[in-house]
Amino acid sequence: MKRFLILCLILWALLFIIPIFVQRPWDENNAIPLPVPQKDGSIDAATEITLYHNGAVETLALDKYLEGVLSAEMPASFPIEALKAQVVAARTYTMNRASLTPSSEHQGAMVCSNSAHCKAYRPIEDAKKAWGDKANIYINKIKSAVSSTDGEILLYDGKPISAVFFSMSSGKTERAVDVWGSDVPYLQSVESVGETQLENFEKTVSFSYDEFKKKLAEKYPKMVFGDDPSLWITDITRSDAGGVMKLTVGGVPLKGSDLRTLLSLRSTNFSVSCANGTVTVSTKGYGHGVGMSQYGAKLLAEEGKIYRDILSTYYKGINFGKISK
Ligand SMILES: [Zn+2]
Repeated sequence: MKRFLILCLILWALLFIIPIFVQRPWDENNAIPLPVPQKDGSIDAATEITLYHNGAVETLALDKYLEGVLSAEMPASFPIEALKAQVVAARTYTMNRASLTPSSEHQGAMVCSNSAHCKAYRPIEDAKKAWGDKANIYINKIKSAVSSTDGEILLYDGKPISAVFFSMSSGKTERAVDVWGSDVPYLQSVESVGETQLENFEKTVSFSYDEFKKKLAEKYPKMVFGDDPSLWITDITRSDAGGVMKLTVGGVPLKGSDLRTLLSLRSTNFSVSCANGTVTVSTKGYGHGVGMSQYGAKLLAEEGKIYRDILSTYYKGINFGKISK
């Protein structure tokens, strides 16, 4: 009986007393912190994302992904503060995407490398050749832009914003509602000073009358082009920033973005003239015009603005935050 009692005592000690002195690796009431900072303390290095690239889904650290986005989306010759603004926008965009249902176009991945759908991506190793003898300088700049803004994102109402960006504005950015039809409080029209003076600000493309009619009629067979070319394009409605929202071509109502896609125009901020057998289309700026202008960011950085000033200029009413633990 005594032996039995001693055995019970030992068992009781094994079950209840000893575990108190054994340190638990984590406490479930304290939720495991995610992402777990790595040895170098970088949140980006510790955060894994899934990317649909070259027909396959790959898992990679967020910092490597952001380096690849930066190398593809913005010239590495741009000032460091512009690169930092770009990387914070890209990190935010990625986290915003991560919070949405994975797109069926991604095979379940959080983001893809199609620039028309998510963000372009070019691994640094692939960019090296193109950079030639500047490769080391550019690689250091890109790595520094990512690491010096480690984990930083833009928030609105406490959530990562849809931090869209584009190449060059027409002097003003576009409101999201004017381009995509739904109002987004932080994607409003803002002035982007200095861009109208840039090289490549205005570009002109020309089509012969026949070429123009053929391109449009292929996609919109109901279009009718009368004898007077000055009546082919009518009812142009523009946004405050100047982008064409709606227009009528050959009697068929279109969105400005429809014509932009069909004629491969640089932006929807276009004007059209028809004379002497030629349709001439002039565009201002480059890209959809919503959110941060990359050339605008470059100009602000050259003026001495830091990346947070740049981001606050283009995304209205946002706060700065970090990827949450
Ligand atoms: Zn995508």
